[in-house]
Amino acid sequence: MRITALAGGVGGARFLRGLLQHLQTRDDGPHTLTVIGNTGDDITLFGLRVCPDLDTLLYTLGGGVHEGQGWGRADESFVVQGELAAYGATPQWFGLGDRDFGTHIVRSQWLGQGVPLSGVVERLATRWGLPEQGVTLLPMTDTPVETHVVVEEDGEQRAIHFQEWWVRHQASLPAQRFVVAGMNQAAAAPGVLDAIRGADLVILPPSNPVVSIGIILSVPGVRDALRGTKAPVVGVSPLVGGAPVRGHADACLTAIGIPVTPDGVAGLYADFLDGWLVDKADEASMAGASIAVDAVPLLMTDIDAAAEIAASTVDLGLSLRS
Ligand code: GDP
Ligand code: CA
Repeated sequence: MRITALAGGVGGARFLRGLLQHLQTRDDGPHTLTVIGNTGDDITLFGLRVCPDLDTLLYTLGGGVHEGQGWGRADESFVVQGELAAYGATPQWFGLGDRDFGTHIVRSQWLGQGVPLSGVVERLATRWGLPEQGVTLLPMTDTPVETHVVVEEDGEQRAIHFQEWWVRHQASLPAQRFVVAGMNQAAAAPGVLDAIRGADLVILPPSNPVVSIGIILSVPGVRDALRGTKAPVVGVSPLVGGAPVRGHADACLTAIGIPVTPDGVAGLYADFLDGWLVDKADEASMAGASIAVDAVPLLMTDIDAAAEIAASTVDLGLSLRS
């Protein structure tokens, strides 16, 4: 089975790690997984290109992630960051560990040599053993794009980088809207649209519906490919009991005028979504939905729990094959 998934960082990566574990237990293989990662979170810091969501996917699927945090490297140290602070270099609000710096340095070197981001990601993925697991990781686009947040402070509107809003301000500044700088020039990265059109199953993991999945959906051609694919498209709700499990998806949904409910999130995908997996606690809120709905516990407390959620997702998808 060829599975294609759209993913942000922590929620997407944890789900996909569970999916890989689940696929190993199925007897209808072989399976391949193509992951289309969000690059709207990307930022240039200290002259280095940082791709938080792609790196979270690499580290999580490659076994190098800091488990407690869900992002960054395990066994990390912060010598370089301390040296930068001693020089008064900014920003200091974005944590970068020494091991993580290695990724950003080599990525920036390759990008500087003219390798497209998709080529860089392919090289990084080799080190993390993704090809051996049947996984292809693709950035949504090779074009540098950045999600900016229009915020209002003291009666004035200004746009700040998504990371400044999310990490520095913890999404506490009321967001007016999100704009993706560079998207009007962007094209889907090689392989992205074909991976959606040629899939047997398309999955939207429990990633942030606005600033992760929503940004990928704004890449030219992606939404059309999802509408046109013959594969069932199934999604997993990032809300449990009507609230995000972690992060500030509620602030993001409110900013774009969408109710913070699984039904509200599914509505963002209404033109292509065939099936929606919600938490048991949210089952009643989906009564009367016009798409196929299944309800299971959706807390990814460990890899086994994520694998069970992934199994339910695949089952729901396969039940919808025409
Ligand atoms: P980010 O880029 O690191 O913010 O990660 P994603 O966009 O991939 O995922 C963030 C979303 O994952 C948030 O909206 C969370 O509510 C959701 N999430 C995190 N952990 C869980 C979980 O255990 N279960 C479910 N259903 N959603 C989760
Ligand atoms: Ca992200």
